[in-house]
Amino acid sequence: MSAALHDLGVAELAQAFASRQVSSVEATAHLLSRATAHEHLGAWLCIDADAALAQARNADSARAQGNSSPLLGVPLAHKDIFVTRELPTTAGSKMLAGYRSPFDATVVARLAAAGTVTLGKLSCDEFAMGSGNENSAWGPVKNPWDLTRVPGGSSGGSAAAVAARLVPAATGTDTGGSIRQPASFSGVTGIKPTYGVCSRFGMIAFASSLDQAGPMARSAEDCALLLGAMSGFDERDSTSVQRPPQDYAALMHTPRAEATAAQPLKGLRVGLPREFFPAALSADVDHAVREALAELEKLGATLVDVSLPRTELSIPVYYIIAPAEASSNLSRFDGVRFGHRAAKYTDLLDMYKKTRAEGFGPEVKRRIMIGSYVLSHGYYDAYYLQAQKLRRMIADDFQRCFTECDVIAGPVAPSVAWKLGGQNDDPVANYLADIFTLPASLAGLPGMSVPAGFAACGEGAGMPVGLQLIGNYFQEGALLHAAHAFQQATDWHRRAPQGAAA
Ligand code: GLN
Repeated sequence: MSAALHDLGVAELAQAFASRQVSSVEATAHLLSRATAHEHLGAWLCIDADAALAQARNADSARAQGNSSPLLGVPLAHKDIFVTRELPTTAGSKMLAGYRSPFDATVVARLAAAGTVTLGKLSCDEFAMGSGNENSAWGPVKNPWDLTRVPGGSSGGSAAAVAARLVPAATGTDTGGSIRQPASFSGVTGIKPTYGVCSRFGMIAFASSLDQAGPMARSAEDCALLLGAMSGFDERDSTSVQRPPQDYAALMHTPRAEATAAQPLKGLRVGLPREFFPAALSADVDHAVREALAELEKLGATLVDVSLPRTELSIPVYYIIAPAEASSNLSRFDGVRFGHRAAKYTDLLDMYKKTRAEGFGPEVKRRIMIGSYVLSHGYYDAYYLQAQKLRRMIADDFQRCFTECDVIAGPVAPSVAWKLGGQNDDPVANYLADIFTLPASLAGLPGMSVPAGFAACGEGAGMPVGLQLIGNYFQEGALLHAAHAFQQATDWHRRAPQGAAA
């Protein structure tokens, strides 16, 4: 092999396995040793080397017996928000310290059935609430491009691990941007599919009407392979969408009717919402995104101006609906059924209070309080109901846009990754930074982040910038196709942070 094993993405590894250049045991052992060497990143919450090597051995012998399924033997890791039977699950919270699920999340089970090897679990913000992975009870994760910066959140462990070449791919979840934003901050590719495409069974609930799983990897091609295995109807999730299984890798490769060899995106109308390019957008992000848009034009796409007039309102709408649902979902952590229970208490009520006071971190408590408030009698109409009405209008705005364009493009976040600790005492600053990811989340639309360059100057120089692509419902194939064409013409997604070469 000319390239180091850890430089290979999912498709490349699969090819190396198929041609018997490398075995899954070799790849797994190599990545396990890298994991130890990169402990300083804080990405891993647990690793089970013996179990991973056993899975890899099984994959190798299945291959020897003629099994040629594309993901067979590919090592990966899961965000710690997915429950796993063989590994602890904490959702980044002390509340679930020592918890062991009796079953696997559907996404985990499906990837295992496809033959993948699970190295371990990756850090995330507590119950997926956050944008920097600094809300994990187990400490922050560092951005491999600059160890003094956040990797993004809440799937920060997944983003950092993929960026640092610790795993070729990882699972993530996105409620309001938690796949796209860390992908952008850490220079990896991530896709949040249409709400309902991936089962939420066994994904610890934050805001049920928004939560959606998706893959994070180095390329659109790798994401397509993983999404194919992760997605599909699941009768154990009542919001799972009944559709036939999709071959995203095939959709990604399907040429557009007007395509030519030089212009694979010919005829694709890319909508640029003017609200996604405000004056407050960091110049570095603006520059990288516009260069990426120019590249899409070169590939044959037409850029059209569109408008999502309620973009700004998506922040208050999301930060009412998500905490409302969280306050309800998190009521199950009462010291009786799961995880932590206070050691000393006087009666049942005191046990609930002490357990929850000890188990939850400050951001989770803040959201439970906001959620309880907006759902309370007398405030429900003023906040929650209004937010639901606006949510519908935001979704309608997208439908108007999609009469004028096929995909929507813009930045993922207003800035590059910020400094660790830089926004810790300012929750509102974190909330505001979600402005470009929340609209698609509220509408339930698929969205992607594709590496699109680096900040050229200023305070965040050298940090990755992602291009966001948003599609209409079930248009994951169109997003992956556009992202793949972009990645055939650019090499941003191939760049690795310096420490990752070691
Ligand atoms: N940053 C957003 C929040 O804190 C989104 C989180 C997510 O998508 N899980 O809620």
